[in-house]
Amino acid sequence: MKKVSVVTMGCSKNLVDSEVILGIVKGEKYEITENAYDSDIIIVNTCGFIEAAKEESIDAILEATALKNKGKVEKVIVAGCLSGRYKAELQKEIPEVDIFLGPQDYKGIQDYLDLPERPFYKRILTTPSHFAYLKISEGCSNPCTFCAIPKMRGNHISKPMEEVIVEAEFLASQGVKEIILIAQDSTMYGLDLYGKMILPDLIKNLDKVHGIEWFRTMYTYPAFYTDEVTLAIAESEKFTKYIDFPLQHVNDRILKLMQRNITKDEIHKKITKMRSVMPELTLRTTVITGFPTETEDEFLEMLDFIEEQKFERLGAFAYSIEDKTKAGKMKEQISDELKEERRSRVMELQTEISFAKNVAMIGKEFKVLIDSFDAQSQNYVGRTFRDAPEIDNEVFFTGKNLKVGEFYEVKINDATEFDLYGEVVQAKIFT
Ligand code: SF4
Repeated sequence: MKKVSVVTMGCSKNLVDSEVILGIVKGEKYEITENAYDSDIIIVNTCGFIEAAKEESIDAILEATALKNKGKVEKVIVAGCLSGRYKAELQKEIPEVDIFLGPQDYKGIQDYLDLPERPFYKRILTTPSHFAYLKISEGCSNPCTFCAIPKMRGNHISKPMEEVIVEAEFLASQGVKEIILIAQDSTMYGLDLYGKMILPDLIKNLDKVHGIEWFRTMYTYPAFYTDEVTLAIAESEKFTKYIDFPLQHVNDRILKLMQRNITKDEIHKKITKMRSVMPELTLRTTVITGFPTETEDEFLEMLDFIEEQKFERLGAFAYSIEDKTKAGKMKEQISDELKEERRSRVMELQTEISFAKNVAMIGKEFKVLIDSFDAQSQNYVGRTFRDAPEIDNEVFFTGKNLKVGEFYEVKINDATEFDLYGEVVQAKIFT
């Protein structure tokens, strides 16, 4: 059997695409290997989100074609966002690649490798077996002026509700305990298929999936975020009281230039409602510093808002010029130094906020899902409901003979800016 490896660049949405590709490829004709150097066919699933990601993807393609040039690999297939967007240019620059395919062109891979059809939900997980991402829609139809995603991934297309449920049930049957719903904009879920946004209905239906202990929803677009979403999460048994609410900015002039379809006042009202309905809420956001024309005062307005709202989790990104976007064409671009300096100031403030919040958790007990065991420190590493994998905080704790992928009650004894430390206080609490 020929060996196939998949190299994944970029975000969790791309990771899910790679898992689908692995599920399609694995079978009688091909086996999967994690080692690109040991494979006959390399599939590079590229990212085209920001400049740095594009460069990384091109490096990965060049590494694969170098192996082909040395005769160590037979074929190189390039898929994903970068490939979809710059196919013609890439074909010209890197002719050693056998075929370029766009994002989610699973049919293209099936045809090229002459594979039988398989249900796409039967993907092969590359995350630890106790958590998985579930993509509820593809693409994005929002007009944010800084973002090139709609050009790469196309308009928003929802996955039918019954398919989302089947996929969640399949993941539960594989031993998954936590499912993270992802999309470019999860609040828009259903609009194209059912004529209205029905994320609250999806939350209610997923809540019934047996075997899943935690769901969490990422990427709720603030302009379309409604009180119904808040209530559905608040009333749900399994959806963690965790909302990812990517603001990008709060100054009205910048929000307008970004075409975010929301004002600071509306943002304020939505957050106030969420916090009043769910006092235990963990609110995550992301902000962009140095958007074209951003003044010092407008930046300070955002900094004040962060100070006032004290988001539990926050990521800050320096604005990156994206090809063929409205913001990329604006004349008054901010220098890289200033964008970065403002980003550092946001993160300095967030570090203080996060530290104070973590210290307040000392002495309390939390349900923690173990992600791994760190042999060097002899600590288990896990997360509370407040933390999504990869991007949020971790809990390091001691205990004996505990199992990765299980939930335990942990008492917090110490805290740093972004991590907690503790000890297990109760044997396994969930199987
Ligand atoms: S909602 Fe997100 S993915 Fe869609 S255009 Fe805006 S930033 Fe890009």
